[in-house]
Amino acid sequence: MSLLDLETVTLRHGLLTAVHGLSLSVNEGEVLSIIGANGAGKTTLLRAIAGVHPVAEGRIRFQGADITGWPGHARQRGGIAMSPEGRRLFPDMTVRENLQIAAEGARRKGDWTLPRVVEALPQIAPLLDRAAGGLSGGQRQAVAIGRALMANPALILLDEVSLGLSPVAVEGVYQSLAALKGRVTMVIVEQDLTRAMAFSSRLVCMAEGRVELDGRPSELSRDQITQAYFGLHKEGTQDA
Ligand code: ATP
Repeated sequence: MSLLDLETVTLRHGLLTAVHGLSLSVNEGEVLSIIGANGAGKTTLLRAIAGVHPVAEGRIRFQGADITGWPGHARQRGGIAMSPEGRRLFPDMTVRENLQIAAEGARRKGDWTLPRVVEALPQIAPLLDRAAGGLSGGQRQAVAIGRALMANPALILLDEVSLGLSPVAVEGVYQSLAALKGRVTMVIVEQDLTRAMAFSSRLVCMAEGRVELDGRPSELSRDQITQAYFGLHKEGTQDA
């Protein structure tokens, strides 16, 4: 059964249309990676699902309910958690406080307590009493994932997971995410195609605010993906 349904969703920034009548369903348990060039509309789409960017046209359904008009905090309480690009932790608070505040904000009961989150993301354990502002990029990303989990979500949205991180830090972040597979549905915006193909059960490629390609990584060729990435997919088909 689908957990999330986007129905002909159009998203704008003023006069600029960032996402054009996009339809997409995400099934429970899926790990869906969204790839695409800069400006393809990935972040805007994720923000609209989280309820922090308004939907200009179309509908968003989550667990069968029409949530199109719900504000962000209502969606968080309904089970959608977002880890934004830049990770936005409270820098003066400790890691423990950052995690606890997320649970208080969401007010959702569930399995993800602080000990369980630390068990799933063991690299957080030695950081609990440190100020979030002093952490490395990889550590911040792990805490941001932990914070999203503390909200006991049914769906976790992760923006630009590996952006700006060293290869070692990216490896650590993906080890954390691997521990969550099967426990929570994930939608991940990822610039690194190789990572996205290796990690996800489904790959969506966006170009200029539209879905150009959607499939299982094992069923997509690298050529297909590269063409879709640069928005050449349709042109290629017409020329053939
Ligand atoms: P990136 O990887 O660069 O973040 P993206 O695929 O996430 O790209 P978006 O950030 O969603 O793409 O941007 C989609 C379009 O909307 C782009 O044309 C971008 O310039 C525009 N846009 C994004 N944010 C704003 C904003 N706050 N005001 C005006 N236009 C914006």
